[in-house]
Amino acid sequence: MRIVLLGPPGAGKGTQAQIIAGKLGVPAISTGDIFRANVSGQTELGKQVKTYLDAGNLVPDEITVAMVKDRLAEPDAEQGFLLDGFPRSIPQAEQLRDSLTDLGQKLDRVVELVVDEDELVRRLSGRRMVVDGKEVQRDDDKPETVRHRLGVYREQTAPVAGFYEGEGLLSRIDAIGEIDEVTGRALRALGVEGEAGQPAGV
Ligand code: ADP
Repeated sequence: MRIVLLGPPGAGKGTQAQIIAGKLGVPAISTGDIFRANVSGQTELGKQVKTYLDAGNLVPDEITVAMVKDRLAEPDAEQGFLLDGFPRSIPQAEQLRDSLTDLGQKLDRVVELVVDEDELVRRLSGRRMVVDGKEVQRDDDKPETVRHRLGVYREQTAPVAGFYEGEGLLSRIDAIGEIDEVTGRALRALGVEGEAGQPAGV
């Protein structure tokens, strides 16, 4: 299955991407994770993208699309993938469609995680990650940057949902609730049921 998971910062895309990809046996490909790994590894790519990440701005499409194309060409993505954090703009969505067409592939479904903005701000400002046994706040989870990222989402990424709606690929799901409830809704939107014939997460 070839899936895109859409949703604003703080909607729980990363968490759901890991669980759903695990259940489907496809790789979860997160552009944000790949960028962050390159920033902490101080690679050439990391140096190019750090200022964008710190400011909460989108990395230029040219860099992002080339990186995703390379990743999708890896053997583990041949039978399917779940994209988390990509595409994040209409040009990225168009270029993804073209790259997949070149590979003789197409997306099966796009799932949008819907959460209202007040809840997002609450989740993001309280979010901590564990690095080397210590709880740290992601640089871009600081309140000013959070507000900026939500604005970027509204302007550049929210239209991507409309793009996929037009293609008949979009399912919107309520992403408020327990993690496994949300997983269950996503799996049902994908037409996949949980183990032993039970609807997942119920
Ligand atoms: P979140 O969804 O919480 O903002 P991500 O990990 O998906 O977190 O993204 C973090 C940052 O990585 C973004 O603010 C942006 O700078 C960069 N980024 C991730 N994906 C993309 C993309 N598809 N296009 C451009 N920039 C991206």
